[in-house]
Amino acid sequence: MEKIVSLCKRRGFIFQSSEIYGGLNGCWDYGPLGVELKRNVKNYWWRVMVHERDDVVGMDGSILMNRAVWKASGHEDTFTDPMVDCRSCKARLRTDQLVEKKGIKQCPNCGGKDLTAPRAFNLMFKTYVGATEDESSITYLRPETAQAIFVQFKNVLEVSRKKLPFGIAQVGKAFRNEINPRNFTFRSREFEQMELEYFCRAEEGMKWLDYWLEERLKFYENIGIPRAQLHVKTVPDGERAFYSKGTYDIEYDFPFGRQELEGVAYRTDYDLSQHQKASGKSLEYFDEETKQKFIPHVVEPSAGVDRTVLALICEAYSEDEAPDEKGKMETRVVLRLHPQIAPIKCAVFPLLKNKELLVEKAKEIVDLLRPHMNVFYDESGAIGRRYRRQDEIGTPFGVTVDFETLGEKDPALRDTVTLRDRDSMKQERVPVKDLPSILVSRIS
Ligand code: ATP
Repeated sequence: MEKIVSLCKRRGFIFQSSEIYGGLNGCWDYGPLGVELKRNVKNYWWRVMVHERDDVVGMDGSILMNRAVWKASGHEDTFTDPMVDCRSCKARLRTDQLVEKKGIKQCPNCGGKDLTAPRAFNLMFKTYVGATEDESSITYLRPETAQAIFVQFKNVLEVSRKKLPFGIAQVGKAFRNEINPRNFTFRSREFEQMELEYFCRAEEGMKWLDYWLEERLKFYENIGIPRAQLHVKTVPDGERAFYSKGTYDIEYDFPFGRQELEGVAYRTDYDLSQHQKASGKSLEYFDEETKQKFIPHVVEPSAGVDRTVLALICEAYSEDEAPDEKGKMETRVVLRLHPQIAPIKCAVFPLLKNKELLVEKAKEIVDLLRPHMNVFYDESGAIGRRYRRQDEIGTPFGVTVDFETLGEKDPALRDTVTLRDRDSMKQERVPVKDLPSILVSRIS
């Protein structure tokens, strides 16, 4: 994990938030490469969950909502984690993080057994809306994006004119005042979620739960996390939310252990019923065929953007051996990111930076590729070094413009370049004009 955290900082994937002031626990900033990776994950999610389907539409809700939303959803009363304090080292801990030795609970930090009794700690960040800070102006930063979907259910249904089953998707920030943020971005206080609420008839809830589990597993496979690394946990009765009839956790083997990437939950009609009751507004669906009105049930695949990004980096990180400039083998750090989500798809290098014609040609190639993908131009340092820098950030392809490209050695090779593959390090000679189509097909 240390190597991954250090690579993320060194190469501009992820920085500590407010770093120059000593940071802010549980908050992270994504740098130039991190933001590209994150955006690619969200875009791919949106593509497969919304654009490629007829039965899902999107929305983008506000982060602040009427406090009544959080009362009705149950978050104000029950969105809590049990917390204990260690009287020896003063650590504040989640009860499930305590270690148990010979039946006695201990502090995982100091081994202390003098612990306070567990008490409920609400994870929502409280804030005040407007100029007065009193009971009437309280609200919370949303701890999940889902509630905006439930409270807009009727509006979206009306404008989209969808019939059951159909879904509403949303990607956005969520905030939880986690007792112990840890494991890098895995447990943060500010994070992003990609959530779908898929509305259906009660009798089909379990069917859609299994359907969405399978779809979500395919999603991870398609962006480079093999099925063998994903584990499906069927959440047992006692651990599920009381209203859920079935929940699966999709877990991944992080370097710090097997942990949840996404929850796929059958939430029944709980949320819509609660909001209908509390608001007094009908959230029913009218079935034109049977002429019946009812509250739909919902299946929710809820994924974390930050956890997905972290899993992708962990999965992609590898070290192998490659020859240096003099042919001596050295360790190569390579991020084997799937081309689809790699921040930069192709790097373009002139062999030498002081040869005007090489530089000119390389820049022409950048212009040729730019409308199709994110490209990066680099002219500094030995070519081997430039390859290594791209390997380390997961750029799947490298194009080098050399004297052959200018037709100086063999006229038949004029306007061809070497195309290098990050993983195999193999190089092939391809015509410049074919580069866009070759790369586009390999990326998708
Ligand atoms: P955990 O048990 O790990 O706290 P959870 O079961 O509370 O997670 P959900 O409420 O199901 O999580 O949220 C859906 C998804 O949102 C999670 O699977 C995860 O990917 C993401 N998520 C939740 N909490 C955090 C967090 N503190 N930091 C980063 N991502 C989070």
